[in-house]
Amino acid sequence: MAIGGVPFFSAGGHKPTREQALAYYRAVAAVRRLNLATWEEVIAAERLGEPEENQGFLIKTQRRVAGEGETRVWRARTLLICAGTFPNPRPLRVPGAQLPKVMFRLADPTPYFGRDVLVAGGGNSAATAGMTLAEAGARVTVAMRRAPIDFQNHLRPFIVRDLNIMAEEKRLTLLTNVCVASIGPRSVQLIPFVGSEPAYEIPNDFVFAMLGHTADMTLFHRLGLPLAEDGLPIYNEVTAETPAPGIYVAGSLSRANIILESRRRAVEIVARIASFRS
Ligand SMILES: Cc1cc2nc3c(=O)[nH]c(=O)nc-3n(C[C@H](O)[C@H](O)[C@H](O)COP(=O)(O)OP(=O)(O)OC[C@H]3O[C@@H](n4cnc5c(N)ncnc54)[C@H](O)[C@@H]3O)c2cc1C
Repeated sequence: MAIGGVPFFSAGGHKPTREQALAYYRAVAAVRRLNLATWEEVIAAERLGEPEENQGFLIKTQRRVAGEGETRVWRARTLLICAGTFPNPRPLRVPGAQLPKVMFRLADPTPYFGRDVLVAGGGNSAATAGMTLAEAGARVTVAMRRAPIDFQNHLRPFIVRDLNIMAEEKRLTLLTNVCVASIGPRSVQLIPFVGSEPAYEIPNDFVFAMLGHTADMTLFHRLGLPLAEDGLPIYNEVTAETPAPGIYVAGSLSRANIILESRRRAVEIVARIASFRS
């Protein structure tokens, strides 16, 4: 998980938790005095001059602190977009999905202590949310369409391991080969995904629908950048440059779905961009 040549030691050499990793990344940002403009959203980008003139870009941002709508304009020679692929949760399209008890993100598990919670989804987010809720004392059912297998849907092996252990220890219920058929105020109906078993109901107070995310490609549309069939950017595999000169992509937007992979590529991309300065 280490970046920027700053060592990251975790107790006993174990994989760090999310909180430990984020504390480390904050520390790297502070120690390296990164020029971060947090709570500031890029809402538009405009090329100056013609692409071959390489005059750079005007970047318009909007501050999001305490409801402020103040806008700012930055000038940049190069644009490296790493906006991630998490902004839009995939909707759950079943009767009852519009009920207020259906949520798409988990912030704090505490309110769900002692409640019947269904987590629907088969990726890292669903598995992690299910375990977090169970550890906080919720009665959790995780419903997946397929059995969790390492690297399926980019599932991390240690997440699969921990989920299976929690299921074996009956700290949560893991249902595989099922999908959600409908959601009622006090129950959810599940239907086996394979075979001809009938649908059945389980008690339910809350549903977390964690079916994956889609990227927000608004900026790419505004810049007139072409997208591939999977909805993600087209770019040169070696340079990470898009068909528009001076615009690059990195991170999960470039389909590098784990930090191990994206941090290596990020170093190469940034070194290449920095070399143009000289
Ligand atoms: C539950 C879960 C567990 C995971 N566990 C692991 C793991 O153990 N190991 C691992 O390697 N990977 C793991 N991953 C994957 C890892 O989180 C991603 O690969 C990584 O976060 C991708 O980084 P990124 O910088 O491309 O995008 P993100 O982390 O999504 O960051 C994108 C950032 O861009 C910002 N942004 C978006 N649009 C704009 C805009 N218009 N203006 C300004 N800012 C904007 C967003 O607010 C966000 O801060 C996990 C993912 C999940 C969901």
